[in-house]
Amino acid sequence: MARYTDPVCRLCRREGMKLYLKGSRCYSKKCSFERRPTPPGQHGVRRRKVGDYGLQLREKQKVRRVYGVLEKQFRNYFIEATRHSGVTGEALLRQLELRLDNVVFRLGFAPSRAAARQIVAHGHFEVNGTATNIPSYSLKVGDRIAVRISHHERELFKTVKETLRQHQAPEWLSLDAGNMAGSVIALPRRDQMPLDFNEQLVVEYYSR
Ligand code: SF4
Repeated sequence: MARYTDPVCRLCRREGMKLYLKGSRCYSKKCSFERRPTPPGQHGVRRRKVGDYGLQLREKQKVRRVYGVLEKQFRNYFIEATRHSGVTGEALLRQLELRLDNVVFRLGFAPSRAAARQIVAHGHFEVNGTATNIPSYSLKVGDRIAVRISHHERELFKTVKETLRQHQAPEWLSLDAGNMAGSVIALPRRDQMPLDFNEQLVVEYYSR
């Protein structure tokens, strides 16, 4: 399972905005972007004129990095999105939102998508009663995600159980904090997918 392993704060500096890739650190004074919002590298502070292609590329990278997906898989999501009826950009974002690691994050089991990806890969979750350790697993409406019963007493989930009680899941998910479970009750609408993405630029990038 390939994944990005270099420092992630530089990705926020590269994109010129906070991508919230590190959980609680992102909301603290330790956030690297708060301290140094310039692009990484020796010539980071140099001003450059950005053309259409540059804008499209940056937007594509931003979305890809927020969801922690590598280029090849991201392109496959785009190809799949073009096969859907409706707006391609929205279909792309919807597929990303329905990844198991993203849903685990949205339900409040982990402070970031990277952490969610890790706990999924470590085999702590089941989908519809079957143990699943694939972070990219694509969920459907009606699917139930839960921490495996035999893992409930693990140290990691003792703290999670407390924080879940205060967690507000998005409207398209339902959270059953007591049983450490959740369900997909609807497909996410565009206005339920946070962050300021311009997905049309991503579509233009791949349509060149
Ligand atoms: Fe980005 Fe979070 Fe690092 Fe800040 S702490 S630069 S928001 S990943």
